[in-house]
Amino acid sequence: MIKTKPVGPIPDGYGAHNGELAIGGRTASDLVAAAGKTPLFVYSRAHLDNRVAALRAALPARIGINYAVKANPHADVIAHMEPLVDGFDIASSGELEMVNAAGIDPARVSFAGPGKRDDELEAAIAAGVTLNCESEGEAERSLAIGQKLGKAPRIAIRVNPDFELKGSGMKMGGGAKPFGVDAERVPALARLVVEGGAQWRGLHIFTGSQALSADAIIEAQGNVLGLAAKLANEIGAPLPKLNMGGGFGIPYFPNDTALDLSAIGKALHTYVDELPESFTETELCLELGRYLVGEAGVYLCRVIDRKVSHGTTYLVTDGGLHHQLAASGNFGTVVRRNYPVAIASRYDAEPSDVVNVVGCLCTPLDRLADNALMPAAKVGDIVAVFCAGAYGASASPTAFLGHGPAAELLV
Ligand SMILES: *Cc1c(COP(=O)(O)O)cnc(C)c1O
Repeated sequence: MIKTKPVGPIPDGYGAHNGELAIGGRTASDLVAAAGKTPLFVYSRAHLDNRVAALRAALPARIGINYAVKANPHADVIAHMEPLVDGFDIASSGELEMVNAAGIDPARVSFAGPGKRDDELEAAIAAGVTLNCESEGEAERSLAIGQKLGKAPRIAIRVNPDFELKGSGMKMGGGAKPFGVDAERVPALARLVVEGGAQWRGLHIFTGSQALSADAIIEAQGNVLGLAAKLANEIGAPLPKLNMGGGFGIPYFPNDTALDLSAIGKALHTYVDELPESFTETELCLELGRYLVGEAGVYLCRVIDRKVSHGTTYLVTDGGLHHQLAASGNFGTVVRRNYPVAIASRYDAEPSDVVNVVGCLCTPLDRLADNALMPAAKVGDIVAVFCAGAYGASASPTAFLGHGPAAELLV
């Protein structure tokens, strides 16, 4: 008997229709037919709407929600998010073109990320996008480009804080980092930026990603607000804006549990009520990526072959790590665990087989589920990988092995 390995928790809101997984009221085979091919990413409007509504209900009205475009830059997703969120965080001039194409007001856009090229700074300044400057050098280049263009750059400073978001999957603050300006050097740089003729836009403090502990997020947010108040004091002027970061995670793996949003909301209400007077005019926002879009996406691929090797059954699909690097376990994880995976075309059938679901790439790294207990699947069945709405299509090595991109559908 092969030992089974659990799969991650399937997000809320996915059920069966005619025995198949349904997304946005349409069955998996229906969606594949609509796309005209597998593999396919399906993104659910209802999930996106519900997630933003839940956030709005929990958070103080004063805290805006920014969407971190890198989580999912698909044009239809950006367009759907446009009326739902307050701002957009981009991290390249390519993403600037995407938000421009969606007709998003540049005043709602901020641009973070280390290593911004001069041509990227120029495009952002010309468009009127806020630059979250990552270093003194970048701030100086921005001022010089602003002078050349005859346009005052909108500049915020990204702070490298002295604390981190505990338990986060990707640490982006605390100690030496390529991101942001070390906190103690921020006041001097802020004065230089203001004296240099920039439009001062305040601070950006991002401490980490993929945290599932409300307590850790509450602690980090308290530290963010404390640091921002201290820096505003030292700068000697109120902050026009504070981007408080985020790091809200989603459950991907067995034993992961959903974030306690109401606890975070309650704590943020208290924090906001207790802000010093210098924050009266300060615009506040969280910037979230995967929390907004991750659970709204499902990756569908088709079983091409079913084979047995030394007693192990393989479902070989036409999908794989070229679209789903994270689910394969090769994007920022140390120990490979199973994402939530199911047989979409037999969604309500009883599980009876222990199978390895693999992709079609010629590498042993291409695994979608190990030793998973599933309904008996045949060639032609459709496999679903959940939590595919963030860091999927755009964060995977699509060109690897030449199979080409997956289709993407917003329903
Ligand atoms: C990647 C990134 C985000 C989004 O992270 P998620 O884990 O998807 O929420 C937000 N802000 C910054 C600065 C980032 O680099």
